[in-house]
Amino acid sequence: MKTDIQIAQESTMLHIRDVAAQLGLTEDDLDLYGKHKAKVSLDVLKAHEGDEDAKLILVTAINPTPAGEGKSTVTVGLGQALNRLGKKAVIALREPSLGPVFGVKGGAAGGGYAQVVPMEDINLHFTGDMHAITATNNLLCAAIDNHIHQGNALSIDVRRILFKRVMDMNDRALRQVNVGLGGKPNGFPREDGFMITVASEIMAILCLSTSLEDLKARMGEILIGYNLAGGPVFCKDLEIQGAMALLMKDAIKPNLVQTLENTPALIHGGPFANIAHGCNSILATRTALKLGDYVVTEAGFGADLGAEKFLDIKCRFGGLNPSAVVIVATVRALKHHGGVAKADLGTPDVEGLKKGIVNLEKQIANIRKFNLEPVVAINRFVTDSPEELAFIQAFLEERKVGVALTEVWAKGGEGGLELAEKVIATAEKAGKYQPLYAVEAPIKAKVETIVKEIYGGSSVAYSPAAEKAIKDIEAMGLDKKPICMAKTQYSLSDNPKLLGAPTGFEVKVNEVRLSNGAGFIVCLTGDIMTMPGLPKVPAANRMDIDEEGNIVGLF
Ligand code: ADP
Repeated sequence: MKTDIQIAQESTMLHIRDVAAQLGLTEDDLDLYGKHKAKVSLDVLKAHEGDEDAKLILVTAINPTPAGEGKSTVTVGLGQALNRLGKKAVIALREPSLGPVFGVKGGAAGGGYAQVVPMEDINLHFTGDMHAITATNNLLCAAIDNHIHQGNALSIDVRRILFKRVMDMNDRALRQVNVGLGGKPNGFPREDGFMITVASEIMAILCLSTSLEDLKARMGEILIGYNLAGGPVFCKDLEIQGAMALLMKDAIKPNLVQTLENTPALIHGGPFANIAHGCNSILATRTALKLGDYVVTEAGFGADLGAEKFLDIKCRFGGLNPSAVVIVATVRALKHHGGVAKADLGTPDVEGLKKGIVNLEKQIANIRKFNLEPVVAINRFVTDSPEELAFIQAFLEERKVGVALTEVWAKGGEGGLELAEKVIATAEKAGKYQPLYAVEAPIKAKVETIVKEIYGGSSVAYSPAAEKAIKDIEAMGLDKKPICMAKTQYSLSDNPKLLGAPTGFEVKVNEVRLSNGAGFIVCLTGDIMTMPGLPKVPAANRMDIDEEGNIVGLF
């Protein structure tokens, strides 16, 4: 069987100019980054502002197994299939983070015959957006420590600085560090820590901004910490947001690439789906909506986290109205939810499947709460038996849910034609989506709505620190914002071991953080890692490049 990188390297890419031409764009609309990558000018969106939007399709999933259930793969494959049906499809994906590429999971450029290319560039430095975000974030950090060194006119409390340094690498040794050591010339010593770049609020801001001005204003609103009197200190108090916006002047433009079948794809922004909302940028999605007639996008993690945040945060801020939601399900993950052991997931087991399908049933019901209709894509694996596939199809048909067996990983767009047809039929009947809650509601009421309606829980408990943070945010009058839940992706609950569709559980909110620039309130349940580590044998150990530039081991 060929690896993803082998398949990618065998593909014939068009010059990016010709991919852009499919969307009616000329070279004037592009900044070329070599032959196969380009940035799209923000003027394109401005020029089409009054035009009607394409139909927006969200791809999400059931609660996954650690291997991932193929959301990116189905997103790319569905775009390719829509294209084959004569629709002008544009794919809008997230940019992979460099760090995890060398860890366990691998890239985020799809898989098999449903990939975006050049995948080695997309998974590595791409057009430098991650580096720009890293620099922008760390400029603010340098400004904070410099301000303190130069006399601390704002009386910043060095014990209560919230904004951390970032780097795009999995490096657990940097989670907690001391900075400013070495005496007077080096500033004031304090505890600090690094996060991975994709966990930075700058990344969330990039993804939620609607223009460079908006980006600058949002960066100015970042709450960097508190002063000695307990009052808030914002980025704008350091007058650094102008320089930060300057560093982001290219990163803010969406990146254009293509799929293995030359379908255009905008890949832009990739915030962590736990500490942030986990969707690609609003600017890329809106640009895509003006250039195609179908836009296929994805949100991180399962539908309880990713789709909820896409619908309650991104769509609200971006004024987006999705037309259909694809829920990716796999036989192996449904059996996993039915209690089948990891080693047995490849063995046919309809009984296990019957027990586990409740997870899919709950995710379907959840999507309908947003006044949207789901279509289930069964992402077919070679180990799936005909009986298992028939059971899922019959189960969904009985409940009048659209379902399509999807083989885009093995066959590319050809393997997604049935899915594309069902998506078109659903999207054509779509009404107006509705968010789950009103942002004006109190913080606790918003959290309770998500926990009860989406997760199936019965109550929420807050740690003393979370209670205090909520009071502080309310006292500052900064609470009228959507909630960004940070929770395990493996369960509908906050306990990764509760599989299927659990009910009656209590969700524990340990910490509440205000991402004031991004414009949401993060509620953390469980241990949320903002700087991953590498495994004992990292994927990096399998990677190599030879004298001719041939790459191996990059998936
Ligand atoms: P997600 O977006 O849900 O995390 P991905 O689309 O990145 O998942 O897929 C995760 C991995 O599984 C990738 O390496 C991909 O190549 C592989 N994969 C996806 N679908 C299939 C399939 N049907 N058969 C075999 N491997 C698959």
